[in-house]
Amino acid sequence: MKQNDQINLNRREILGRSLGVGGAWMCWDLFGWSKAEATTYAESFKLTDTKESLTICPYCGVGCGMWVHTRDNKVVNLGGDPDHPINEGALCSKGNALQEISWSPRRLRKVKYRAPGSSTWVEKDMSWAIAEIAQRIKKTRDASFLKTDDAGTTVNRTENLAVIGGASLDNEECYLIYKLTRALGVVYFEHQARVCHSSTVGALGPSFGRGAMTNHWIDIKNADVVFIIGSNPAENHPMSFRWITRAREERGAKVIVADPRFTRSASLADLYVRHRPGTDIALINGMINYALENNLIHEDYVREYTNASFLVNEGFKFEDGLFTGYDAEKRNYDTATWNYQKDATGNVIQDKTLKNSRTVFSLLKAHMSRYTLDMVSKVTGVDKGTLDEMYKLYCSTGAPDKTGTILYAMGATQHTVGVQYIRGYAILQLLLGNIGVAGGGINAMRGESNVQGSTDMALLAHLVPGYMAIPNVAKHPTLKDYLEKETPKTGYWINKPKFFVSFLKAMWGDAATQENDFCYNYMPKVGKGFQGAGYSWLPLFEALAGGNIKGMMVWGMNPAVSSPNVNKAYRGFEKLEWLAAFDLWETETASFWKRPGADPSKIQTEVFLFPAAASFEKEGSITNSGRWIQWRTAAVPPLGEAKSDLWYLNAVQQELSRLYAADAQAIFPDPIVKLNWDYGKDEPDVHLVAREINGYTVADKKQVANFTKLAEDGSTACGNWIYSGFYPGSEKKDNLAARRGKEDKSGLGLYPMWSYAWPVNRRIVYNRASADLLGRPWDPKRELVRWDVAKGNWVNSDVPDFGWKDAKTGEQIPPDKSGSAPYIMLPELKARLFVPNGVVRDGPYTEHYEPLESPVKNLLSSQQNNPVIKIWKTEGNDVAGIDDPNFPLIATTFRLTEHWQAGAMSRNLSLLTELMPEMFVEMSPELASAKGIVNDEWVLVVSARGQCRAKANVSPRMKAVELNGVKHEMVALPWHFGYQGLTTGGPAGNNYAINQITPSVGDANTMIPEYKAFLCDVRKI
Ligand code: SF4
Repeated sequence: MKQNDQINLNRREILGRSLGVGGAWMCWDLFGWSKAEATTYAESFKLTDTKESLTICPYCGVGCGMWVHTRDNKVVNLGGDPDHPINEGALCSKGNALQEISWSPRRLRKVKYRAPGSSTWVEKDMSWAIAEIAQRIKKTRDASFLKTDDAGTTVNRTENLAVIGGASLDNEECYLIYKLTRALGVVYFEHQARVCHSSTVGALGPSFGRGAMTNHWIDIKNADVVFIIGSNPAENHPMSFRWITRAREERGAKVIVADPRFTRSASLADLYVRHRPGTDIALINGMINYALENNLIHEDYVREYTNASFLVNEGFKFEDGLFTGYDAEKRNYDTATWNYQKDATGNVIQDKTLKNSRTVFSLLKAHMSRYTLDMVSKVTGVDKGTLDEMYKLYCSTGAPDKTGTILYAMGATQHTVGVQYIRGYAILQLLLGNIGVAGGGINAMRGESNVQGSTDMALLAHLVPGYMAIPNVAKHPTLKDYLEKETPKTGYWINKPKFFVSFLKAMWGDAATQENDFCYNYMPKVGKGFQGAGYSWLPLFEALAGGNIKGMMVWGMNPAVSSPNVNKAYRGFEKLEWLAAFDLWETETASFWKRPGADPSKIQTEVFLFPAAASFEKEGSITNSGRWIQWRTAAVPPLGEAKSDLWYLNAVQQELSRLYAADAQAIFPDPIVKLNWDYGKDEPDVHLVAREINGYTVADKKQVANFTKLAEDGSTACGNWIYSGFYPGSEKKDNLAARRGKEDKSGLGLYPMWSYAWPVNRRIVYNRASADLLGRPWDPKRELVRWDVAKGNWVNSDVPDFGWKDAKTGEQIPPDKSGSAPYIMLPELKARLFVPNGVVRDGPYTEHYEPLESPVKNLLSSQQNNPVIKIWKTEGNDVAGIDDPNFPLIATTFRLTEHWQAGAMSRNLSLLTELMPEMFVEMSPELASAKGIVNDEWVLVVSARGQCRAKANVSPRMKAVELNGVKHEMVALPWHFGYQGLTTGGPAGNNYAINQITPSVGDANTMIPEYKAFLCDVRKI
């Protein structure tokens, strides 16, 4: 570039170049250069003759935009996209370190193979490895394939194969993982979402109808109060914090942080509340009680938009920590009484005055009345004055023209009562009228770039893409049973047959006909699973440890670090006959056979390690926490012989198809050979996969506009109905995920023309609830939908999330006809303060129970722990008792800006490991002094299950909590470390994964592990 080009630089160029040259802007005057000279020098040095591509950061779920500058197929610059509305050109340390992935000597470049008993890898040919792995899959599947169960019902499944998918793969890759996995009959099928946010879906779905973040990142700027609990966005979702800051600067918003540690977010809060890990339900129930007692709720909203007025069955009761119907032997509830009262015609009886003692509202009030300030203080360790201050501040958002948002992450989800934690937020936000409004919502902060998308694509044992249930042998032996039992009579899910049949058509194409129930029997049907506990993460790893699983495929995950009680998982891996891992790095999972202390000669597992492409080396879409589906382009080809996961899936499927077609003795080959799979022979076309996910009409292969065009007669095919609409045409210009329109007429940061948000581009779901029954916005400054009385029509800033138009005539429906139904996905059409029918297994209302390991008795009832959790009685699952002197400390876990999840994508990068080089344990100065520990010394952290070494980080950020007059010390440990990568400093031969000490116990509904509250001790070495 010529020097005088500088005068024509626009904002985008200036920003980009400033980011590209790193610190040059900061110090140019120190060197005596002019800014233009500095820019010109850096420009010619770095960006001259480069090609610019767009991508999205592969780390957390904020979904920051990045641009990639390449020259000669090499990345020369990778920085924040200044046009991107979420991050506006900025990136956190992880995003800024991404470029190293493009050249890192630690990246896998060739296939590696480890033979049984070997202590080394050998490099192998790609074609050899694909052929070998396809043979292993076929052998294991066929040897274990179960066509029918004991009762003779078709099940068509294998329980000897397991598949673990990743949450940073593209949506199209996740979708093909789903297709291939289910076509093989695999039921042990899980991924990251189970261990990070499954309780989110398990709570938000039954409360509102959908299991995702209700609002989106930019919308945080519209809040009056931001309540951060169970998360630390300043550290874990750094670019989201700019919108918290914006809310403070532009509207004087207040920020509350509740956390056991004084975090980076806490340091920026107006009010910090330190509470004991595992007590958030008591904390939130106390706030619910405070709002009800002091009449701070948004009463019109509660009456009209929730089930508050519904009368509950007379038999329903709550006593001493138990709801009616508890069976202690089965550790389960008979939920027959957890229901509404109905009149002779079957309609729910309501009392809009809310005075009847059997209304949902009255029962809620009675239930919450036990959570007084005094009680909550004793349970949580927060003093009553701070509780009062916090409750008053947050409940101020119950005024109709105020909004408060709740931001949470794994501090909330990872508990034996994880679903009830999130249910508590839902009840609170509904009482305050904070759902469906700009600046409100319950915002689940996702930790991986595509954990929302991978969950939408159903890489989970119990799901079909689009949040439909996997066929179950007891409930759904036939398609008719499935559709009858899974389709409610009211609410939008009445359309489920259209979505499910269209999914089967996407799976098996022309082979799926009306006559053969659209190949319904090609889908595996789940049974009871391991020890009757299903097939999710914990039973999968129990089955693995028990030697029941023979072959495993792991796509972009590192369960040898992320699984709870991981020592047990190591022993399970040793029992596998073969393991195939697809990754950028040599992870702990792929190399479990050479972990410290292991003897490779005694481990007979064959391991195939396939080199995978990085995010900017392939094309496809990912979905951020706010449900924005964003497209990434391929900036450079994959490094060495690495391939995209899409390529691997295509290659393995084609080889399997060939093997099955050629083998006359093959077991039930039809689901594999008849699979609808035609994306290209060598290089699969990701756009074909994306278009299939969107859906098309079968006769002419034309893309459908959205899911309202799907049919149940087999005339349409659609891979995932909730994504239908994101690719409504057959050309690349029709890919709405790639849109970059910056219009924002609302001024609320909705950006409707930027990418595409599911469902049907709604940015804030349940938005009908932002206005009153007559369609008048509660707050005109935050208008999302409004009924214009004069014109007789709706004025919509967002895509309306309610029946505002007659589907047949197209005529608009006035608010008195459509107004009271903002929660269209639920049969009641209203949000649920009380969840009926046992949809949430451990109760219709939220109740505090102690974590499985706790140093204190439950003060609220004689039920110490959640009464319906599964307690594993298998080897290696020891639990510390309440008074165990060996484990007196309360432990919790947390994450760091500089590292990412199970660590492989950060511990292999020199820039990030230099910033955060080793495992540590945070403890208070008082605890350190009592134990004679000094800062920076290596110590041993021990629990009933194992131990891990960590550097002592003595810091006032940690402090003891006082519970019922007694002080209890707490410690906190980061999650990311392991024995691979660059962060293995410290005494030789030690392991460093925190999960060597966490318990394998899960939530009652989703079995998300309780990583966040357990007991331990810290010992000097
Ligand atoms: S890790 Fe998250 S906040 Fe940081 S740059 Fe990436 S997407 Fe943005």
